[in-house]
Formats: sequence, C-alpha cells, structure tokens
Amino acid sequence: MIARVIVDIATSELDKIFDYKIGESGALIGSRVIVPFGKFKTEGFVISTAENSSYPEEKLKSIIRVVDEVPALTSDNLELANHLHETYHVSMASVLRLFLPTEMRTGKVRKKTANYASLSSVDFDDILSSLKKGADKQRAVLTFLKENGKTKCSVLNETFSPSSVTALKNKGYIVVSEERIVRTPYKGIQFSEKRVTLNSEQENAVKVCLESDKPTLIKGVTGSGKTEVYLRLIESVISGGKTAIMLVPEISLTPQTFSRLRARFGDKCAILHSGLSAGEKFDEWWRLRSGEAVIAIGARSAIFAPLENLGLIIIDEEHDQSYESESSPRYVTDEVAYIRAKLSGAKLVMGSATPKIESYKKALDGVYSLAEMKGRVNGKPLPEMIISDMKDEVRHGNISPFSVALKQELKNTLDKGNQAIIFLNRRGYSQKVICRECDYVAKCLNCDVSLHYHRAEDLLKCHFCGSQYHMLSACPECGSVSINYTGTGTQKVVQELQDLFPTAKILRMDNDTTQTKESHFNILKDFGEKKADILVGTQMIAKGHDFPSVTLVGILDADMSLYFSDYRSGERTFQLITQVAGRSGRADDKGKVVLQTYSPQNTVLQTAIRYDYERFYKREIAIRQASYFPPFSDILRIMVESEDDAVAISTLKKVFESAREVYNDNRQHFIYFDKMKSPLKRIKNKYRYQVLARIKGNNDEIKGEFYKIANENLSKKVLCYLEINPSSMS
Ligand code: ADP
Ligand code: ZN
Ligand code: ZN
Repeated sequence: MIARVIVDIATSELDKIFDYKIGESGALIGSRVIVPFGKFKTEGFVISTAENSSYPEEKLKSIIRVVDEVPALTSDNLELANHLHETYHVSMASVLRLFLPTEMRTGKVRKKTANYASLSSVDFDDILSSLKKGADKQRAVLTFLKENGKTKCSVLNETFSPSSVTALKNKGYIVVSEERIVRTPYKGIQFSEKRVTLNSEQENAVKVCLESDKPTLIKGVTGSGKTEVYLRLIESVISGGKTAIMLVPEISLTPQTFSRLRARFGDKCAILHSGLSAGEKFDEWWRLRSGEAVIAIGARSAIFAPLENLGLIIIDEEHDQSYESESSPRYVTDEVAYIRAKLSGAKLVMGSATPKIESYKKALDGVYSLAEMKGRVNGKPLPEMIISDMKDEVRHGNISPFSVALKQELKNTLDKGNQAIIFLNRRGYSQKVICRECDYVAKCLNCDVSLHYHRAEDLLKCHFCGSQYHMLSACPECGSVSINYTGTGTQKVVQELQDLFPTAKILRMDNDTTQTKESHFNILKDFGEKKADILVGTQMIAKGHDFPSVTLVGILDADMSLYFSDYRSGERTFQLITQVAGRSGRADDKGKVVLQTYSPQNTVLQTAIRYDYERFYKREIAIRQASYFPPFSDILRIMVESEDDAVAISTLKKVFESAREVYNDNRQHFIYFDKMKSPLKRIKNKYRYQVLARIKGNNDEIKGEFYKIANENLSKKVLCYLEINPSSMS
C-alpha cells in the first residue's frame, strides 16, 4: 500500500503531493505523518491511499512515523477541504492548515500528563507497622494518601519529600501512574443554569429550524431569546446522536455564551478560540476529535472543528464582520458553513437582529427559511432612543463629550443604582496628533496611516503595525510647539465621566485594556457582578452581552461610520446602533438610549432609532440595485503587496494583464475594471496595489479565473490574493 501525502511546507503555497510506502507505520487516510523529504524530514497529511504508485517501487521512500494515535483529519474534514481547495483555488496544504490549531502543527504542544500516586492494595495498617521508627515522613505520606486519595506526585514531593515518595514506591506501598491532564479554559466561570419555558415566538423559531430543509435565518430583536433557541436546537440534535457547531463573533461573546452552554451541556461542549493558551486549545481540540465533546463553540475558525456526524451549524450574530478571515486562505465563514452543512447533511441556522442585506434578501427570496422574533423575552418594548443633536449642543456652549440629555440620564441611572454603557466608535476613539501651525499629522514610518496618542503610556502608536513612538515635543516640519490632539479617546471619556460623577466606578474596555488572555472576560465579569457602574468601550462592548442591570446606553458618535466611502457604511451604522442599543433594558427596568449625532436627519439614523429594519432594508436594497452594488454584483479585488515597491508594481502589471484578458472576453458582465494604488498605500512596510472589478450576477467562472490569477502571481516576494466583497476596502 502507498499513501499520497501533501507535504506541509510553510513557505510554499504550491501543493506538493508525493507517494510514500506506508510500510510499518500503519498510516491511515487523514493521518499526520513524518516523511523523509530531500535531505530533511517534514510533516505531511495522508490525503488518500492506493495499492500502487505510478513511480517505480525502488524510488519510493517509507513514511517514518505517524504523529497522532487517531488521524487528525476526519473524512468529513477532508471532503470539505477538497471543496475549499476547488472553490478558492488555493493549495490543499494551506487549506489543510485551517483544520488544525497552529500550535499543533508546529509540534509545540502535546498531551499533558502527570504522575499520580495512590496506595497500593496492601493493607494500610500492615504497611504502617512495617515502617521503621524514624520513617515519619513516609508515614505522613501514607496517611495523607489514605485521607485524600490519589494525589499528584509533585504535590507529595513538595509537601513531604521526594525521597520518601520514592522509597514508598520502591517498597511497593504506593503505585505511581501517568495520567492525562485536561487543560480547561475559563476555569473561573460559574455555570448557573436558568431553565426557561419557551415563548411562542421561540417555539416557532425552533420548529422552523428543525423542519426546514433549507438554511434558516432567525431575525430576532435584541433580547428576544435567540440564544435559548440555539440551546434547544443543540439539545435536539445531540439527543439524536449528532454533533453541533456554534459560532459566535470573535472575542467578546465567547465566555458568556460559553458559560450558558457549559451550564446546559457540561463537558459535552468544547471551546475553540484564539484567546486560549496553546495547551487549552490542543486539549479542547482533541476532546472534540475523540468524540468526548460533541459541541464546538468558538469564533469563525471553529467552523473547521474536527467533529464527525455533524447535525447542526449555528452562526450567531451572522452580520458580524469577524466572520470574514483576513489571513490566507481567506474564506467567508457562512460560505464554508453552507458547504459543510450540505456535505454532512447538517442544518444551518443563522441569527441576528440586523441580518446582512444579502442574507435578508435570500430569506425574502426563499433561499433561506425565515423565523422572526419580534418581541423581547421580558415583554418590555425595545429601549427608547433619544437623539441629541451635537451641533445644537455646541451652539449652546456645551463642549463636553456628553450632551445635556446624556448627562441627565446618566445621573438618573446612577441614582437608581442601575448601570450604564458608554459606547465610542472604534475608528473615532483615538487621538491623532496635529500641528496647529502647519497641519502636519504624525504618521507611522511603516504604514501610510496617522498615529494615535495613548495617554496612559504617553506614547504614539500605530494601530496597523503596532509600532510605538515617543510623543512629539515639537513639530518635525515647522518646529512649532503648538501640537494638538484631535478626537476624544476612551481614556479621556473615562476621565471626564469621573469628573462628572466622582463616586461612580468606571470600567474601560478597548484594545489597550484587553491585551492579556482573559482580560476581556474579567472586565465583563466584573461589570456583570456590578463591581462598576459605567462601562466605557469600543466595538467590543456592542455585541451580544446580557447585563440585566444596564438601563442606559450612550452612543457618543453615532455617525462616525456613516462617512466611510464603503457601500456598506449605512448597513454598518444601522447594525451598530441596533446592537449597542440592545444592551439596554434587558430585564425588569425599561431601557433608554441616548444617541449623539451631528446629522440627526440622516435616514439611516432615523430608521435605526425606530428599530425599523424593514424600512431600512427597502431603501438600502433599492440603492444597491440602482447602483449595481452587492448583492446585485460582486466586487472582486486582487491585492498585490510587497516590501519592494518595484516588485509590487511589476506584479500588478502582470496581474492586470491577465485579468484584462478575462475582462475582454466577458465585457458584458463587467460594470467596472481598473488597477490602482490601494487607499492605504503602505501597511507594515508593504506597498499595496489593487486590481478592482465589479461584476454582475453570481459569476463563478470569472471568480475562478481571478482566483487563479492571484495564486499564479503569489511568490516569496509578493503577497497576492483575491477578495470578494471585502468588508474593508482600505
Ligand atoms: P438574544 O440573544 O436574542 O439577545 P438572549 O438569548 O440573550 O437574547 O436572552 C435574553 C435573556 O432572556 C437571557 O437572560 C435569557 O436567559 C432570558 N430568556 C430567554 N428565553 C426566555 C424565556 N422563554 N423565558 C424567560 N427568560 C428567557
Ligand atoms: Zn508644524
Ligand atoms: Zn504602522
């Protein structure tokens, strides 16, 4: 028997498939294997086996060894990998990397084991009496084991002495065994179960999902109890002996949702996301692979969870941008989910209060089933929205970041002992540094972007590459010392709030305060336990959280995202406002939202404050149709990035030439086609160019051609990739 092996060479984007003799190794399809490769050894995946090779027998080498006891890739995963390989025209090697945690591939983590000691079956009193008089420590060890049962050897060694433990072992009085230790994430979470009776809208949603043979979109207002619906669906699927995947947006939602799942399903669920330590990731992954856990919950990459017999995929907050991957191979999670669900006959359920325009269209067109949940579980109306016109405020002499109404509502909220959330748009929260004399703006040396001032560290930071710079004492252009910050930062907001409400406890959640592994979790936990009165934060606090005592949400700069030259900026703004507002009034007390804006008459804001998704949708879809934007077209962007500007330019030319051939053959399908510098001309020292096209309809052929062109021009010196309807056009 021979094995066909994809050799996993990180630097190469090309597929190298080689035949190896299976020999003694016993490698199966899906196994990770170590094989000889030139003068070296390397890792690979067995993707298929065959009786014979077309290579001469004597030239074939043998697999050296198999890495894992069980093949790391399930047959389902291999099938999915093949589909992705074909859809995205990327190498099988890079697709397969998606299916294993990175740390595992680099061999840096292994199963963790420890030695445990326990009393041997000899009679305890006999042992004690047979010990010498001076052997007090040994006696103490035995007594300890009798009282506490099996104990880690390291604990015994430390508490008593290694020599006494060894002596007892040698005499056969205690036995030492090696056992696997499971590294469990989020040990600090308390899992409290709240068993509820579903209301009729929830019942209906469950029914639609289970009975439909199409994917289902659950459109449910914030606080309508979508998570409870997901839990019931999972319950139903796993009681039928199948497995489930539940995807949640990156970072913020995971611990809270995880704790709800843990409360209901215990060890049957495993969590996969980038915030875990390598060891935790490894162990959770293997619990899923071995079937010990049957529910995978995590951010987008959990769509690749090693589950067999899959019955259900849930995508919560399906409109969230974190479902788009930004590293190679770039995939769109709902596309992968769709393929995976189809291949394994699983149900696909997507939920949101503000579905993507594309998704809602599919639901209206009957491509998806639609389940609506229009009421909040607590029977209360959605929070009242109050608009503060900030132009008016300034005219009346209010130059603080908070409107008069917001200050008043904050006071009322704190007086009642309730909590408030203050939200700042991420893009606007930071402070740029500008020279008042000559308009010089401090920029990053590696990126074509302005730097942001971080007050706590008194440093300038680049938000793209992370570079740090000293704060300027004078303008490098004109020497003037009148240097100014613009914009309001989260830190500044906290400071001003503290001045207004000296006794209030305020927590801040943004990129700066969430650098360590569990800091997200801890901030949210503290706020949930009412250890603070106000939570100030950026996008991270917008999502999914369920804090019963929050009755006020302040949105400081509601129009910030309206002015990006992106066809989706209206949609983004609507979603953001609805999501943040949805954090208010989720329990017994009515919620309020104060929305600060400079353009109170803007249609997007006007529909958002009425929670009128339908009206917003009708207007938005009409605009998209009239102007041929997605979902009535696809935007294709081939990015060319290189540290060497000349190489980037010459590659761009080649890419453009090849793409132009496709364009010339298909002109009737193109709305737009050109090449140019990217809006951000340089990031992380790489020069960026693009070929940009907009094509009509759902044209897989043209997409395929573009994927091919991108891959053909990829090399060690240039990064070249295709994006379809990217969420950021920067
Ligand atoms: P959504 O995800 O739609 O925003 P959640 O699922 O977080 O809403 O539900 C909001 C709150 O209501 C949660 O605390 C949840 O436990 C509770 N809840 C959900 N369904 C019910 C129900 N049928 N009866 C009572 N409480 C419920
Ligand atoms: Zn200057
Ligand atoms: Zn930079």
